[in-house]
Amino acid sequence: MASGGGNNRNGTHRNSLKGTTTTSTVSTDKPLSVNSNPSKPAFKNKSSPLTGASSGLRKSSPGSLGGGAAKDDAGVPGRVRVAVRLRPRNAEESVADADFADCVELQPELKRLKLRKNNWDTDTYEFDEVLTEFASQKRVYEVVAKPVVEGVLDGYNGTIMAYGQTGTGKTYTLGRLGEEDTANRGIMVRAMEDILAEVSPEIDSVLVSYLQLYMESLQDLLDPTNDNISIVEEPKSGDVSLPGATLVEIRDQQSFLELLRLGEAHRHAANTKLNTESSRSHALLMVHVKRTVKGREPAHSSDNGNSTSMARSLRPPLVRKGKLVVVDLAGSERIDKSGSDGHTREEAKSINLSLSALGKCINALAENSAHVPVRDSKLTRLLRDSFGGTARTSLVITVGPSPRHRGETASTIMFGQRAMKVENMLKLKEEFDYKSLARRLDIQLDKLIMEHERKQKAFEVEIERITAEAQNRISEAERNYADAVEKERLKYQKDYMESIKKLEEKWMMNLQNQGNERKMVHIAEEVAEVKKLLSKETSLRKAAEEEVDNLKSQLAQLKMSEASANSEILKLRKMVEDEVCQKEKLEGEISMLQSQLLHLSFEADETRKRLDRGGPGKVPGRLDSPVSQVRSQLKDSGNGEKASVAKLFEQVGLQKILSLLEAEDADVRIHAVKVVANLAAEETNQQKIVEAGGLKSLLMLLGSSEDETIHRVAAGAIANLAMNEKNRELIMSQGGISLLSTTASHAKDPQTLRMVAGAIGNLCGNDKLQTKLRGEGGIKALLEIVKCGHPDVLAQVARGIANFAKCESRAATQGSKTGRSLLIEDGALPWIVQNANSDASPIRRHNELALCHLAQHEVNAKDMISEGALWELVRISQDCPREDIRTLAHRTLASSPDFIAGLKRLRINY
Ligand code: ADP
Ligand code: MG
Repeated sequence: MASGGGNNRNGTHRNSLKGTTTTSTVSTDKPLSVNSNPSKPAFKNKSSPLTGASSGLRKSSPGSLGGGAAKDDAGVPGRVRVAVRLRPRNAEESVADADFADCVELQPELKRLKLRKNNWDTDTYEFDEVLTEFASQKRVYEVVAKPVVEGVLDGYNGTIMAYGQTGTGKTYTLGRLGEEDTANRGIMVRAMEDILAEVSPEIDSVLVSYLQLYMESLQDLLDPTNDNISIVEEPKSGDVSLPGATLVEIRDQQSFLELLRLGEAHRHAANTKLNTESSRSHALLMVHVKRTVKGREPAHSSDNGNSTSMARSLRPPLVRKGKLVVVDLAGSERIDKSGSDGHTREEAKSINLSLSALGKCINALAENSAHVPVRDSKLTRLLRDSFGGTARTSLVITVGPSPRHRGETASTIMFGQRAMKVENMLKLKEEFDYKSLARRLDIQLDKLIMEHERKQKAFEVEIERITAEAQNRISEAERNYADAVEKERLKYQKDYMESIKKLEEKWMMNLQNQGNERKMVHIAEEVAEVKKLLSKETSLRKAAEEEVDNLKSQLAQLKMSEASANSEILKLRKMVEDEVCQKEKLEGEISMLQSQLLHLSFEADETRKRLDRGGPGKVPGRLDSPVSQVRSQLKDSGNGEKASVAKLFEQVGLQKILSLLEAEDADVRIHAVKVVANLAAEETNQQKIVEAGGLKSLLMLLGSSEDETIHRVAAGAIANLAMNEKNRELIMSQGGISLLSTTASHAKDPQTLRMVAGAIGNLCGNDKLQTKLRGEGGIKALLEIVKCGHPDVLAQVARGIANFAKCESRAATQGSKTGRSLLIEDGALPWIVQNANSDASPIRRHNELALCHLAQHEVNAKDMISEGALWELVRISQDCPREDIRTLAHRTLASSPDFIAGLKRLRINY
């Protein structure tokens, strides 16, 4: 029901009884208006006005159907067709109205109905079709419904509606299933038969929903729980849809009949529940027919896969969607508004609402009024397209013959007359079915994926098979190869054994042959040899005879000279005897010298012991060198001994004395080393001893001898020699440090350690050798030596350390030494600090000096502070008896930032 209404709806076509193809004639509200061409039946067949409208439709081209029905296609006018059907008298009427004539009289050939006003007056009405009480159901279908159904199959919406008083045959006309007699099948059943006969099940679809509208509530007859379905209107197209309604796809007539039965049962149950009759409700059957336009559907098989078929398969199919709505309206009779029939006033109003709204809309449309109250009821909203819309609509009004219901019959007739004036604009519902294209492409895609997967699977299986086969072949080949190798190996082994055997045989044979041959050759050779010897013998004999002659003459000559030779021999013998005599004399001299030497050594030893017993510090002179003490002692002990050593030196010669260092006799060695030590104490001898190889011999003795006395005396001698700058380098280069260290490590006598420490201590006083000395373990050796604890030894160690510190300090000042003191590196600092305040003054003094030297250099400051040297330095600067050391300590403390900071930290007020 188009609310706006078409401008031409009441124009040329408005009053046409024959549709768009016929010339318009008079058709008014006035019942007397007649068709000018009555011979042309309106609803007869395909050439009837309805069908004519269908065939005359201008179908829109597919290209113009972008998103549904073309908007610019105004459609084709198609008036609502109205047929009237008269029910035969029923049993009750036959009896009750027996004496009365029917209130209507039909003139089917003139398509007229005469309504009796009274015994003498009738009103005449013209309809599109007039169906008498004898009209068959088949005819009613063909006249009323078939053109609409055909339109639906062609893609137009269609409405078939029955209007009339309860009991006049609406349901009979529309909803009879014809189970008892197929001739009685109503419009719904027949329409579906026609639809199913036309559609192709593979490409088309028929979907059905079945609903009841009662008191403005829309119920699903296919799903009774669904009793309040809402109507959705598409604002643009004006299409109405019921998304909540059950949609059943119909494939065969039987299932449709089942559906109708089910719907009817539900309708009955619902009405019982609501305490009403079916006559009070409207039943709506909706059939959605979607058809693919033949010749436009794409090729289904794309097996050939060429581009044209591909392109075709990508073209969406063109579909036509027709919706057939069959409406079995509630009884048109007025409901008693008083509520006497069991309804309240409000209920009565509500029951009537949809039907009266329909009447109002049709009036408005018929009168071309500006406002059509479509939205007043659900029925009018649902039938929006059926009246004044795009659907082809066919209305059948049912009337009964009884004069008792004349009023109701007249009102039904007037409804039909008004409905005839309603003009619709039929529109083809044609569109591209993108959804189905997508579905189809999806299916195609699924198929391709499946096919691909299948192929992939097959491929994998094939790969597996080939791999397994290859594996088998490989292992077989490997087996074969191994077999062949083994066979070959055995064969070669056998061959080899055989050849060996053959060779052995051959060799044996050869041996035999060779034996025989050799014998023959040997004999021949022997003969030749004998011959040769024979001739040689002959010639030799000749030569010998000549020689004999020669010798005989020589002999005579010799005999003559023999006499003079004898006298010469006598002379020589005399000379030899003289020589022997001389030798004995010399040997006597040597033994005398040796005994003298022994005596002197003993004396020297005794002298040393005497000196040692004198103790440290008691002896005046140079404390630095223990051996020099010996020397001075020797000096003091009398000129006799010194003279005897010097005498010995002169008499025997240095070389001889040194050679005694290697004498086999241990006593001789001990005495010899003592003599050398004594000689070494003399500065004048030192150079001579070294030059004569004495240093080397002494060092060797340290290494080779196991006698501690030898170690002690030799170390003392080395210490003396080390006083000389040049000798220090020699001692170092000949592995002196390690020899001295080893000696110290084996020493039991503190005096031995004293000598060793003295020697190392002297070596410490050399600027150039500092690194080498430390590298060879000199400092470590000194720190080992202090473990013995003997004050003499400690004094020597302290002296050595002080020497070392002094040299290092000098080097650092000159810039030839950087970094921490090697003494600190080697861990000497704790010992120095510990012994800096020793009771033994030599130890104390040397350590104090050492600390002062170390303190000169800032790099040592941190270690010194952490080892507690700061306290000692403070003490030295205050208490040291030697003023120069005191001053040095004081100056150092005052000038070093680290010491100043350390003093501050230790809260020493300085
Ligand atoms: P409505 O649906 O309009 O209330 P029905 O279709 O139920 O009326 O009809 C009422 C009664 O009349 C039913 O018993 C039906 O069989 C009968 N009837 C209606 N129309 C005809 C007809 N054309 N021929 C024979 N019987 C009919
Ligand atoms: Mg009915």
